[in-house]
Amino acid sequence: MGNIIDGKALSLVVKDEVKAEVPVLEAQYGRKPCLVVIIVGENPASQVYVRNKVKAAAYTGMESRLIELPATITEEALLKQIEDLNNDPVVDGILVQLPLPKHIDEEKVIDTISKEKDVDGFHPGNVAGLWLGKKCIVPCTPAGIMRLIDSIGLELKGKNAVVVGRSNIVGKPIAKLLLDRHATVTIAHSRTADLGAVCRTADVLVVAVGKAKLVTGDMVKPGAVVIDVGMNRDEEGKLCGDVDFASAQPVASYITPVPGGVGPMTIAMLMKNTIECFKNHF
Ligand code: NDP
Repeated sequence: MGNIIDGKALSLVVKDEVKAEVPVLEAQYGRKPCLVVIIVGENPASQVYVRNKVKAAAYTGMESRLIELPATITEEALLKQIEDLNNDPVVDGILVQLPLPKHIDEEKVIDTISKEKDVDGFHPGNVAGLWLGKKCIVPCTPAGIMRLIDSIGLELKGKNAVVVGRSNIVGKPIAKLLLDRHATVTIAHSRTADLGAVCRTADVLVVAVGKAKLVTGDMVKPGAVVIDVGMNRDEEGKLCGDVDFASAQPVASYITPVPGGVGPMTIAMLMKNTIECFKNHF
């Protein structure tokens, strides 16, 4: 029976590391790190994410600011707001919660946040940095996944890693981070022929698709480490992952639950990234 990797407990360790660092940075630089979170409109899921991010920032003792903007705001006004924050010397990290209303171009928004304040690691400059192996802000979810993997002391060198999903925010960056640690990486997606066969080659299986219980136990190699990024609702409306936990856990050596796995780590790594951005400031 696979061991559960407790993302909630590990996220607390990470947040406590940040909490311990905040007063040290304040003493050294004369102010605390500051994260600004922008939410546009009233998407209920986004509201929950944003609240959790601000709550985590408060826990660590850093400064945080929540800017709530109406769904009707123009793209121009939002970009101006971001420019102002780019120029604000006491703001270290800027996060604009996605998705945005349809009339706003997300790519433009991401490009406008200054690379140095891009706590999400989505700016093209940070993406290029990741792929070229240069100093950059690593996106929070992939960074959290690596920390989860490291928490079980797994040596990735020479292992077969399969990433299901090729999004810019999870699939592609986690594949690069696994490659950097010398895993042999395969990226699967919606056009992959025989997903089960590909998944069964994985010593480490990372699933980031957005389809409830897509990966079942028969697709998991015995002893594999399974990281489930998905956040979905099952038939009963209960939160569940992209992996069918009930059938995968008996086959895996380690597995992350949903909820309580990758989700809390994403928020914890956002705190770490804010500290990184703060240090970049000086
Ligand atoms: P996207 O929708 O951007 O990407 C989904 C990927 O899955 C695509 O690459 C798509 O392939 C692939 N895919 C879709 N259907 C299949 C299939 N049947 N077989 C194989 N691959 C498939 O999603 P995200 O990466 O943004 O998010 C993925 C999941 O992770 C979601 O549930 C999301 O809510 C969750 N998430 C959780 C976070 C957390 O903190 N816990 C953070 C971010 C996301 P193709 O490219 O061919 O279309």
